[in-house]
Amino acid sequence: MAEINIKNVAKQFGKTHALHSIDMTIKHQEFVVLLGASGCGKTTLLRIIAGLETATSGEVWIGDKRVDGLAPKDRGIAMVFQNYAVFPHLTVYENIAFGLRMAKLSESEVERRVQRTASLMHIEQLLKRYSGQLSGGQRQRVAVSRALAMEPDVILMDEPLSNLDALLRMEMRAELKSVLAESNTTTIYVTHDQVEAMSMADRIAIMDQGQIVQADSPVEIYRNPAAHFVGSFIGNPPMNFLSANNAGNGQWLVGNTTIAGPQSDKPILEFAIRPEDIRVGEGSMTVEVRLLEPLGSHTLLACRLGDTPFRVIVDSDRAVKVGETLAIDPIAERIRWFDPDTQLAL
Ligand code: ATP
Repeated sequence: MAEINIKNVAKQFGKTHALHSIDMTIKHQEFVVLLGASGCGKTTLLRIIAGLETATSGEVWIGDKRVDGLAPKDRGIAMVFQNYAVFPHLTVYENIAFGLRMAKLSESEVERRVQRTASLMHIEQLLKRYSGQLSGGQRQRVAVSRALAMEPDVILMDEPLSNLDALLRMEMRAELKSVLAESNTTTIYVTHDQVEAMSMADRIAIMDQGQIVQADSPVEIYRNPAAHFVGSFIGNPPMNFLSANNAGNGQWLVGNTTIAGPQSDKPILEFAIRPEDIRVGEGSMTVEVRLLEPLGSHTLLACRLGDTPFRVIVDSDRAVKVGETLAIDPIAERIRWFDPDTQLAL
């Protein structure tokens, strides 16, 4: 069983607190994505699990073994990192075979695994090429093949698809997900690409400033952000937030409209709604359209509600003009509320 347990892991680089007390369990065969903005600590956490970095405090367990005192090679993991190290003087075949030969597998087994993973990553035609003669994206696929060929209990990946063009990236996303689902591997995958995270993960851990803010299924993260940060980070565009004044009895004044919300003594809450969760052409809220962004399947309207920017997504067939005032109606069951003091969802 390759369950990973991260217990109270913290990391300081001099005065920089890269990680504050991280606690997380990654279940056997689970695919967990660490997602967050640049500098939030994703790579540091991955490197600590891999053994390439030492935590300032805390423990890392894989299965029933505490591994934070072990060398990387003794942890039973394979890694694909951003600065993937493929050996330029070896052929692609020999690069993928490298770890298998070190593990003293039979030549027929080496051959089987190299062929299988090369075919999964669409690099069969490159097997005889020296890795120094490959493009960045091709080298990246060699690195992923080499990790998969080890059939490891745990695989750690840091932005493994970042050098691929958009189409190949989309294809690889789906393939990698299905390959990892078929194997018995537990995966931790770092990215700052939320589409990659949403489409691949069993669970996404959203990180901000060295902390995990929420770890949940992609749908849960999207529909029920646990904190303002999550709602403002996930979604393209992200949620709209408006200040809501307490009108008593669970009623809240948002712009010029009273909306039913939580019972609370707080004078102000934050009202949040996703741009696609709004009916247009009905309702008593009004917004002024400032800019249209036609995106093919839909049109994004950058509006103002009073002085506050507010985005609305409409069907691309709908005729809307800049300067127009639109009546809007946020879908009641999609409205979320946040405490402005704690920034947490209510
Ligand atoms: P990115 O997406 O840009 O790779 P990240 O989320 O992976 O970012 P980390 O690389 O984990 O972020 O960095 C977390 C914080 O720790 C940052 O503030 C970074 O500057 C700092 N940091 C990382 N490595 C070191 C180091 N070796 N020495 C000092 N500070 C470091």
